[in-house]
Amino acid sequence: MRVLVTGGAGFIGSHLADRLLSDGHDVAVVDDLSTGHREFVPEDAAFFEADIRDAAALERVFAEFRPDAVSHQAAHASVGRSVREPAYDADVNILGTIRVVEACRRHAVSRLVFASSGGAIYGEADRPVPEDSPLLPKSPYGMSKLAGEHYVRFFAEEGGGTAVVLRYANVFGPRQDSGGEGGVISIFGERMLAAAPSTIFGDGEQTRDFVFVADVVDANVRSLTADSAPGVHTFNVGTGRNTTVNEVAARVAAAVRRQRVDAGLDSPVPTPTHGPERPGDLRANVVDPSRISYALGWKPRADFDAGLRKTVAWLAEQPGQDAG
Ligand code: NAD
Repeated sequence: MRVLVTGGAGFIGSHLADRLLSDGHDVAVVDDLSTGHREFVPEDAAFFEADIRDAAALERVFAEFRPDAVSHQAAHASVGRSVREPAYDADVNILGTIRVVEACRRHAVSRLVFASSGGAIYGEADRPVPEDSPLLPKSPYGMSKLAGEHYVRFFAEEGGGTAVVLRYANVFGPRQDSGGEGGVISIFGERMLAAAPSTIFGDGEQTRDFVFVADVVDANVRSLTADSAPGVHTFNVGTGRNTTVNEVAARVAAAVRRQRVDAGLDSPVPTPTHGPERPGDLRANVVDPSRISYALGWKPRADFDAGLRKTVAWLAEQPGQDAG
């Protein structure tokens, strides 16, 4: 199959491109490199540096690559920036998604997978939320993701294709950005490897549902390749397990300690301190993955600590990372 991955120079999209190639598919990536990295794009994938909001550029990508299926991962993904610059967020996530949907319709793409966010659209959820729960996005990012879901549904309903909306929980793994607002695991990992202090916002008893990137990639691959009926299919992609930020910090510290011992180092890993709660932070957010498990046979297979060790090992290899 010929699969176009938008955002394939980013964290999740680049792992997806790797997996699709190793499964024998032809892969192309379109990415403007705004947060992605050219070196994350696998050598065997065709690469188009373009902004998804640029209809003419997207038209050239579709005409040249002629995808059978598209996995739309490209997005502006910072909640904080979406609050500061909601118009920019909407421009990329709503208008950009419309451009992708239009190109899919023009080029008779039969399947479109869309990366949405469970954390951003369900709001508070201290028990695993199923897909038909009320949707209460708190941030402009959540609102733009929810709007994107509707345009993707429109693609399926109007064009007779198959659309799959994947609502990810908190994804972690190698290649996740640890700068600014990146995933908490990468931030703790990078700080602890550098023996620098890290901060837990609030009491640390807030919970999240952490899912390893390889499992998210597997959900995408199943969504792209399953024998699914036309129409829209919406699935949560998470573990259904609550983990507190305090517990995550302790388990990242253990992975960092192990990494240091393996590297022949024994300097201590600093314990994080607690800072003020961040306004607007959710107290709990966990998604129920039963539907995708039933429909596509997906389940989270990665062991959490093994995923943490892989993430820490990758962070330790990054230039500028002082493991001493
Ligand atoms: P990322 O920032 O690493 O990847 C996004 C990619 O999109 C980057 O390579 C970036 O350069 C590209 N991009 C951004 N704007 C673009 C534009 N206008 N044109 C072309 N390319 C553009 O983020 P990620 O964590 O890999 O996220 C991938 C998808 O998953 C996003 O849609 C995000 O909203 C969604 N998501 C991520 C998480 C998570 O925990 N990481 C959770 C829920 C949903």
